[in-house]
Amino acid sequence: MIETAVLATSRVEINLAKIAHNADQLVRLYGSKGIGIMGVTKTVCGDAKIAKTFVDSGINMLADSKIENIKKMRDAGIASQFVLLKSPALSEAEAVIQYVDISLNTELFVIKKLAEIAVGKDKIHQIILMIEMGDLREGILPEQLIVFIEEVLKLSGVIIVGIGANFACFGGVKPNEKNMHYLSELSRMVDVKFSLPLLYVSGGNSANYNWFMDSPNVGSINNLRLGESIYLGRETLDRKVIPGLFTDAFIFVSEVIESKIKPSLPYGEIGQDAFGNLPKFQDLGLMRRAIASFGHQDVLVEGLTPELDVAILGSSSDHTIINARRVDLKVGDEVRFSLNYGALLSVMTSVYVTKKYI
Ligand SMILES: *Cc1c(COP(=O)(O)O)cnc(C)c1O
Repeated sequence: MIETAVLATSRVEINLAKIAHNADQLVRLYGSKGIGIMGVTKTVCGDAKIAKTFVDSGINMLADSKIENIKKMRDAGIASQFVLLKSPALSEAEAVIQYVDISLNTELFVIKKLAEIAVGKDKIHQIILMIEMGDLREGILPEQLIVFIEEVLKLSGVIIVGIGANFACFGGVKPNEKNMHYLSELSRMVDVKFSLPLLYVSGGNSANYNWFMDSPNVGSINNLRLGESIYLGRETLDRKVIPGLFTDAFIFVSEVIESKIKPSLPYGEIGQDAFGNLPKFQDLGLMRRAIASFGHQDVLVEGLTPELDVAILGSSSDHTIINARRVDLKVGDEVRFSLNYGALLSVMTSVYVTKKYI
């Protein structure tokens, strides 16, 4: 559970109405070709207010990679099905059966353990089998799928409710007509061979947008797991804005603690900086340099874009140096930044950044 520091000088402003708008638009868009959405909450650490916003926008499956977050959302009374977005660790199998409705799986050994615990508790745990399709993160190799399913069907306590694949997370592999068609074909094969109609054929994530827009026929793909495009309004292959969506539902805000005209070139004998790099600078003469009260310990600084016409020069663990250019930044002024995915993850995870809902 994330406890936020009470005395934090930086905050993330979370615009729930903009998140609701994005969720609503994407549910409609994908729904137009029969694709349902799982709302991915790992990005925001299972934030209960955001989860509630998803549910109010008609998303009734929430997916997270941490059981801790799922438990938090359940405890907050969020009325949804909960999906564990990655193969359970053996050590968390008990907790999976207790808190999770559906888990994504790739290892028989893990599924056996889940089945054993589920039987002991008189439960049936639902599983989605993830198939490797080239991105080389998680997945069962397609040629091993039949034998794998045969083994799972021998178990009580678990039921296969779907298959899925993930793209553009590790290898940068794009979902396209070819691999989506292949996933569809696999689902039909499973249906025919095992009389196992799959509730979920989950084709991917926010990277599937271009494929979806370019495909009149999405085959048997009937589910996507969306995080980034709901939060930041972009698809994730080229980070293009999805028309009609907000890209500023989250804004990072911090405070200026020093502002002075100083040289642009460090002077004195030069050694390593705070992170072991040998810094290099260009001499631009005197400039207004402002220091904002955050650093690498608070946020992934590289993922911030200032709203004002100023530039981030660099950060240590707790200071960020800004070239204020022509902006007369004063001590006490607030500086605002938009966030990319990495920055969003980091501020939501940081205990030093207050969450303010608007
Ligand atoms: C994180 C994750 C997602 C969501 O990805 P976005 O790019 O945020 O839409 C979907 N599926 C899996 C398996 C994930 O790990």
